[in-house]
Amino acid sequence: MKWIDLPRNSIPYLAFDMMEQKDDIVAAFTTKRYYRNGNPDDFYQPLLRPESDPEEVAACVQLLVSQFGTDQEHLVSSAQKHMANIHLVDANDLGPAAGRRNLEAIDGLITDMPGVMLRTFGADCPSVYLYDPVRRAIGLCHSGRKGTQLHIAARLLNAMQESFGTDPGDVLAAVSPGICGDCYEVGDEVAEDFSADYRKDPLTGSFRCQSILSDIISKKTGRYHIDLFAAIFHSLRDAGIPGSNIELPGMCTKCRSDLLYSFRAEGRISNENCAILMLRS
Ligand SMILES: [Zn+2]
Repeated sequence: MKWIDLPRNSIPYLAFDMMEQKDDIVAAFTTKRYYRNGNPDDFYQPLLRPESDPEEVAACVQLLVSQFGTDQEHLVSSAQKHMANIHLVDANDLGPAAGRRNLEAIDGLITDMPGVMLRTFGADCPSVYLYDPVRRAIGLCHSGRKGTQLHIAARLLNAMQESFGTDPGDVLAAVSPGICGDCYEVGDEVAEDFSADYRKDPLTGSFRCQSILSDIISKKTGRYHIDLFAAIFHSLRDAGIPGSNIELPGMCTKCRSDLLYSFRAEGRISNENCAILMLRS
């Protein structure tokens, strides 16, 4: 992952090494930072929150689409509910932004339409980016604890296989910053709930393994910790994406709450980091 901060950009962002080398996609992760009127101290606000200013949010969204060469009519955002529903974005999801809302109860988006910007959010929950350069298709999902235990990233890949004929061996994957395994401490019930779901096959729902890998759930100083990055990595690799094609972030939202929005660091969600993925026109 690298930090992209160019003079022409209003919004500096984090980029993924393998995807950044591809000319025909935009894959970015926004942070708290942006520039407005040359001022570097404003907080980037992609979502309307109780304490945010609607005009500021609207200005941020406009900066985002114009920076990456599209418009608000082609911006499709999830209104995620910590589920594992995947939506195939088509022409019905595009059009005047004023008449459209974020897609309700959708945590994953796929498309093969160039110029359509997919967007998910998180303030500790990672997002997962998938890019199929052969079929020219993309998928983006919000993979919080619940989505990760339901293997939403593998389901996203499966939706691309069904809709676009994607071969998992061709796919490049990246995981955005989220909360790291050291910071993500959970209670016994949450750990058990995670383990029970995660051991099931994402498509059939039948149990496929007896125990969960120790790099995904471990006990540290008497409390369980879940490593969402490791869990997503194993989901994707088990689904057929080569491990060498999967980039993990190496950056935690809570450890780096100076740069990134973090629910656990702030004790509330003041705003969210935003994952965007788009095939260039
Ligand atoms: Zn951390």
